[in-house]
Amino acid sequence: MYYQSRSIILKTSDLREADKIVSIFSEKAGKISAVARGIKKPKSSLRACVQPFCHSLLFFSSGRELDLITQGKLIQFYGNTREDIQRMLYAVYIMELLDKSLMERMPLSDLYLYTLQVLNYIDEWGVNQLIIRSFELKLLICLGYTPLLNRCIKCGSPTVSSFNIPEGGTVCDVCQKESSSIYPLAAPTLALLRLLLNANIKTISRVKASTQNLQQLEAFLEAYLEYHLERRFSLKSTIRTLKDRMML
Ligand SMILES: [Zn+2]
Repeated sequence: MYYQSRSIILKTSDLREADKIVSIFSEKAGKISAVARGIKKPKSSLRACVQPFCHSLLFFSSGRELDLITQGKLIQFYGNTREDIQRMLYAVYIMELLDKSLMERMPLSDLYLYTLQVLNYIDEWGVNQLIIRSFELKLLICLGYTPLLNRCIKCGSPTVSSFNIPEGGTVCDVCQKESSSIYPLAAPTLALLRLLLNANIKTISRVKASTQNLQQLEAFLEAYLEYHLERRFSLKSTIRTLKDRMML
């Protein structure tokens, strides 16, 4: 069977000789692993379309084990991102998050479109930490882990001060004493989280937040992602080390 889909390239890995396995987030079929034959040869016409974080139209033929990429057409190369180490690291981080968290053959068109919006934003304007956080949150929502932020998930009180990670919602001062895996959230951080849940990328890009609240938001989302995805994100620590060294 032959099919085609717009696709975001998550990762490539060596298969044999000139071939590679490409991990793809496709618009129509969700995450797919497919073989790109002869990709390491300099004259390969597929080469440019299957670079990590490229947006391409890919043509596939179904195989017994892995599908084969038969042709490709580059839609967006994100050239500015490739020339800037900070932008590139975050684009690769987003690809890594998708690669590690998506199930094969589960289409998620909202997440697909949001990923493109974030890649476009980074390429045009640079890295905005709140937009990276909004991507992490969007990923959690699309995987079914929408955080409940309106009231205490135990007693319904509107005054909440922390988040119960395993149960996925905010809790009040009284109920947090009976809960385990509690993550404290300051009021401005909670407000940021609520904003990210509802706002579009344009609005988010205009929001100003203090470094302290951004850091708390980042640590919270990292803990929530790790709880659900059950793995540490090696790239996140690489980004942190680079940031320290280069004062990014
Ligand atoms: Zn409560």
